[in-house]
Order: sequence, then structure tokens, then C-alpha cells
Amino acid sequence: MDALICAEWLLPGPSGQRLTDGAVLVEGDRISAVGLRAVLQARTGDQIPVLEYPGSTLMPGLINSHVHLCFDTSADPVRAFRDSSPEQLLSGVADRAAQALRVGVTTVRDLGGSDLVFQIRDEIAARTRPGPRIVASGPPLTVAGGHCWFFGGVVGDDSSIRAMVRRHASAGADLIKVMASGGHMTRGGAEMWQSQFTTDQLRAVVAEAAQAGLRVAAHAHGAEAITAAVDAGVHTIEHCSWMAGAGEYDRREDTARKMAAAGIFACAALSQNWRALYDRLGPIRGPKTFGRLKWMDALGVPFIAGTDAGLPGSVFDNFAGALALYSWLGFANDRIIEFATVNAAAALGLGAVTGRLAPGLAADLLVVGGDPLTTLDALHNVRMVMAGGTLHPPSSAAPRI
Ligand SMILES: [Zn+2]
Repeated sequence: MDALICAEWLLPGPSGQRLTDGAVLVEGDRISAVGLRAVLQARTGDQIPVLEYPGSTLMPGLINSHVHLCFDTSADPVRAFRDSSPEQLLSGVADRAAQALRVGVTTVRDLGGSDLVFQIRDEIAARTRPGPRIVASGPPLTVAGGHCWFFGGVVGDDSSIRAMVRRHASAGADLIKVMASGGHMTRGGAEMWQSQFTTDQLRAVVAEAAQAGLRVAAHAHGAEAITAAVDAGVHTIEHCSWMAGAGEYDRREDTARKMAAAGIFACAALSQNWRALYDRLGPIRGPKTFGRLKWMDALGVPFIAGTDAGLPGSVFDNFAGALALYSWLGFANDRIIEFATVNAAAALGLGAVTGRLAPGLAADLLVVGGDPLTTLDALHNVRMVMAGGTLHPPSSAAPRI
């Protein structure tokens, strides 16, 4: 649509920028101008509709960099996935994508699911159904019986690794996800701190993905797996928990410094239930686990924000509740917003597409009541969501933690 969207405050991104009485001119599916309302309105005159949001903030649509649209947030999402017919799965994926959009998430990165996600991605892109832009990996690469093997991405030697990457690329994957360590979702697989691949195998993943022009996201809880993935040159580390054994941690400063130097992003992938997890871990493990984020930040590791939505209790429509974790840890609100916009776009290779308010970028916009720089909770007060120039009715019931 064509519209001039005006708000009391405007956060174009990156952090540190802010306009009072700002406006964004949308033409078709793109932003054509950003600036002071008075200037843009003088230029457009009465030509196009004006949407006014007093007492509100206009900002880029949010990017949730770690979701699983194939998982239904139930207590046993793996079983629910395996019991679903393709039709049920497709409608579930579409519903959950729409839930994310309603709270201002205009892009999601799906880090592990079936190829059916590509179909919903393409339908949203073709505007035959509402939803956020989906960047999807398809079945994550894993070992036989390993973490999330049931999606079908099981590989063994180098040639099967390379063949699987090529298969994903031709099936339509936007990136490659590799399970560098075990996880807690899969019974019988490697422990969370145990590696599933060697550094050389991860290098094969990165090299073959690069041939297809694809980035690589590595799931890595273990310190050994994180180090191997960083040495192999992946683009993002998911979870990045630095585990070394049951209840044991090994924060490796040299590896973290390599991440900072190479611009390898860390995505903690914690849901809106982060506080319950912290309490469950207890007074020793809780601070050790969560303290890694401030430690990595101090070493210069760049962050993106994701929620692992789809896992038990990790909903698609409370990104703001998950971002509150960073506020609780002491991160400034403008930086937290950056994790979910500018940084995320850069990490996903979409820096010239979305994540900021700038001429030429997609009209992915969010208006929230109040000022999220003062109170991050303002992100719960969704007033308007626009994805690729299409206006979507906001959710009136964004849940709070
Ligand atoms: Zn995940």
C-alpha cells in the first residue's frame, strides 16, 4: 500500500538514532523515504493516506532469528510433528507464522523442520497468505540417531555431508543448519555438551554451503562444538552454552574473541520462559548459564535474538517477553532492539532488505504504544504491523511473562 506513517518517535536503527515527529513513506512494498513528518508531508501533500500514531514509536519489524515452525509448543512437539499429516503440518506452520506476525515479527529464521516450511515461505512471499518473511534451513544436518534426526538430515562421511547440503540447496533452503553438538530434544542422541561433528566435517558443511551461496547456523551447546564451529567459519552459533559436562561449563575466551573478530553472531535462543529456566537451574548453574551472555558481550561477540519458538511452552507470539531477558541482564534497550532488527538482518544476510527504516528497504514496520527505549515492555503494546507493505491487524492479546 501507499501511506505516510507518522509517529511521535521513530527508531530507524541502528541504536543511537531517534527522530521525534518522524514519518516513513511507504510506496508499494517498500520504504521510499524516512524523515521528519513535516518534511515528508510537505512533499506528499494530500496525495496519499496518512496513518497517525501519537504517543507511539515507529520502528523496523522484528526478526526472530531462531524458531521451529514445525513444532507446536506442546509438551512433546517431536511426537506431535511425527504424528501430523502433511496437511496438518502445513496448516500448523502457517498458523504459527501468522502468530509471530501479529506481535510485530516480520521475519523469522526457521532453524530446523521439514521441507514443507519452504512451501509456506513461498506462499507468504507470493502474498497468497499472511505471514512474516521466512528464512528456512529445512532438515538440520545431524548424525544417525543424533539431535533432530527425525527431520531427515542425517549424514555420515564428507561426501554424504556435501550431498545433503546440495540436496537442501536444490530443495530451496535459504541456509544450512548443522547440529554441531547434541541437544535436549532427542532421546538417545549425543549429550548436549558432546560434539556430533569434527572441525573438518563442519568445514565441509561451510564450504559446500558457500558453493550454493548459503550461510551456516550451528547448534552448539558444548564448548568443544562451539570452538569447532567457529574454526570452521559458520555464521551464527545457536545456544552457545559453553557446556563441558553435566552442570559443567568451559567458557573459552580465545574462541569468543575469534567470534568477535570474525563477526560470528551468538543466538542464545531462550524463550519467554527464561526466568523459569533460570530458577530451575538453581543458584549455581543459573548464573553460570545466563552469565555467559554478559561475558560474551564484554568480549565483543555480536548478538542476535531468537526464542526457539515451537519447543515446549515457547510461543510464537511473545517475542517481547523473551527480549526482556536482556533487559534483566542489564543490556540497554536500544541494543536489545538492535539484536532483534539491525544485527539480525546482518546475520541473516538481509542487511540490504530489512532490519532498518531506510529508503529502498522492505516496508517491514512495527508501531508500539509508548517508548521502548524507556520501557522495553512497550514492545507488548502493538499498534500496527506492516510486512512488505501489507498492513496486518495487530494482536490485542500479546501475552506477558
Ligand atoms: Zn532450535
